Amino acid sequence: MHSFVYNGLPGRVVFGSGTRRQLKAEIEQAGCRRALLLGTPEQKASVEELAASLGELAAGLFAEAAMHTPVDVTERALQKVKEVQADCTVALGGGSTTGLGKAIALRTDLPQFVIPTTYAGSEMTPIIGETKDGAKTTQRTLKVLPEVVIYDVDLTLTLPPKLSATSGMNAIAHAVEALYAQDRNPVMSLMAEEAIRALGRALPVIVADPKNLEARSDALYGAWLCGMCLGSVGMALHHKLCHVLGGSFDLPHAETHTVVLPHAFAYNAAATPEAAERIARALGGKNAALDLFELSGKLDAPRSLKDLGMPEAGIEKAADIAVRNPYWNPRPIERNAIRDLIARAWAGETPVQS
Ligand code: NAD
Repeated sequence: MHSFVYNGLPGRVVFGSGTRRQLKAEIEQAGCRRALLLGTPEQKASVEELAASLGELAAGLFAEAAMHTPVDVTERALQKVKEVQADCTVALGGGSTTGLGKAIALRTDLPQFVIPTTYAGSEMTPIIGETKDGAKTTQRTLKVLPEVVIYDVDLTLTLPPKLSATSGMNAIAHAVEALYAQDRNPVMSLMAEEAIRALGRALPVIVADPKNLEARSDALYGAWLCGMCLGSVGMALHHKLCHVLGGSFDLPHAETHTVVLPHAFAYNAAATPEAAERIARALGGKNAALDLFELSGKLDAPRSLKDLGMPEAGIEKAADIAVRNPYWNPRPIERNAIRDLIARAWAGETPVQS
């Protein structure tokens, strides 16, 4: 028997094709009048288009969102909030833009409308990571959980195949670790397995045919579920390793998740037979770690930390940092096995259950 506690997170989700056109009604329904629209410099044109569709409800636009939510960017955005007297934010983009909306909400409690365009899943979590002077701090607070999330599949059609693959694998990592989380529960496990199935099916199609609406819809649906997994239960070794590797060697977020996931799961596989069975079933395979590795191969996604720019000398350092502070994992953290895992991920070798 597995005893559990289930905590439902509040939030409204609108999912479909063309759903961004419902934003105006959603903002009005929430009683807001002056939205500050957020985006990255790369997605400024899409944000401007969205602003035009809002008419007078669009009070201003701030398109300087950046990876890892730098505090200086947030401070500039807060100036803009004041200047245009915004009473809500609209974030159109990936985790970086969502992060900026969350950082504003943390300081002002302004309601957030989020329109995600990647598979990162941040929109479904009460988690915010911010960087200041090169250091990243992460906290969990309901203050940053977005009130309304509008998934518009059409907006994901432009996500480049490479980014779709790694963003999708990053999402799968949330579901994989939810399956063996210390505070796992049956609802999240159902969602996690379904999420892996949907993304595992959709991502290879997207890489071959990025405009395939059916596959894009499947992937975004899977990403939504993965975001809920990340927001609802704790993560373990895989997320810890990616945090250490990303922070120590400035490696790209989604790519690092993609490379590490099969190896991290191989480490935990024997300690989590139910998770292994669910993952293999979802991916239509027999060995979860190898199935994940094969999936990244099918997507032509990066498979080695070396290719992401990590120096070989970093393997020992990463192993030291990864075992320094204790954290929960289904299998105890053993330094030598962790070192070997990182070494295999660095070289791009097949994952090994050790
Ligand atoms: P991102 O938001 O940085 O986007 C990457 C690039 O792709 C940007 O230039 C963006 O403008 C562009 N882009 C996004 N969607 C596009 C589309 N549909 N078409 C064309 N271009 C598009 O990347 P991400 O992986 O979504 O987010 C990563 C960030 O999110 C990291 O900082 C990570 O720490 C954070 N994150 C936070 C949580 C959380 O719960 N707090 C969860 C996941 C990720």
